[in-house]
Amino acid sequence: MIALAAQSRPQQVRAAIARFEMLDRLMRRLEHADAFTSVSDRLRVLRGRLIKGRRIPLSASAGSVGGDQFGILAYACNICGTANKRRMALLQREEPSCDGCGSTLRNRGVIHALSTSLFDDNLMISEFPHRADIVGWGMTDWDGYASRLAQRLSYTNTYYHKEPFLDITSVSDSNMATLDFLISSDVLEHVGPPVIRALENSRKLLKPDGALILTVPYGLQAETIEHYPNLHDFAIVGEGEGRRVVNITADGTQEIHSSPVFHGGEGSTLEMRVFSETGLLADLKTAGFSRVTICAEPCFEHGIYWWYPWSLPIVARP
Ligand SMILES: [Zn+2]
Repeated sequence: MIALAAQSRPQQVRAAIARFEMLDRLMRRLEHADAFTSVSDRLRVLRGRLIKGRRIPLSASAGSVGGDQFGILAYACNICGTANKRRMALLQREEPSCDGCGSTLRNRGVIHALSTSLFDDNLMISEFPHRADIVGWGMTDWDGYASRLAQRLSYTNTYYHKEPFLDITSVSDSNMATLDFLISSDVLEHVGPPVIRALENSRKLLKPDGALILTVPYGLQAETIEHYPNLHDFAIVGEGEGRRVVNITADGTQEIHSSPVFHGGEGSTLEMRVFSETGLLADLKTAGFSRVTICAEPCFEHGIYWWYPWSLPIVARP
């Protein structure tokens, strides 16, 4: 019996990495020579195809969190295209892990979810088609991808405190069913209760086949923990450790809450709730989303690997 010579798994992986690195070196040299832009563009597509669908990491098999057995992951950032290498255990939701644009696992996870939702394909933003007919909004999106999305799609980043405004708890009728996608990344944990109102408005903004690209921090506890369920007319008083949330409820009762939690700064980033996966999925269902996917699958070629089961990107369609 003749056995065909086949490359072992480690050989295949090493060969794939070598091809990727060779192309990447070539691309970087060409990108410095203006005359070769078209060649560079073609190589970029070639590089994308080469790594698409392949598992580039040296050892992506499961291991203890933080252990060496996670290996090194080589990947191209799906936001800026930069080739990166990182120890897989260092890929953190909120830690910059791209040498080019500083994108985090969450940032790349959002773009991955958007790409697969719109194009059923795993594209870098630079590979997105120019489609003015695809309309989307962001909710205070990270500028690292917002500016790039605006070059490809009819995309508008909106803000709570400046133009163009969007208060997701109060949406104009004229905007209903106008969006192909809405990105809401780590916003809804800061929106006043009840959060179902923000989710319902998100659903109403979408066209029937539109997609909400949603991230929030969530845990695996039984229920969402709502810090201020009776929030109505409130102010944050005091300084530092002594800060309090003083709330007058709808029926005029005063509540004082100690130890408020703020995310990433002062003031408007007050944490309103800690979602649970179960609670969030139930809220999405109540808000009228019938097709909900938790994006747990890794996308190694773009440096997306969720080695824990919480706070993952979610795609929700009406
Ligand atoms: Zn990047």
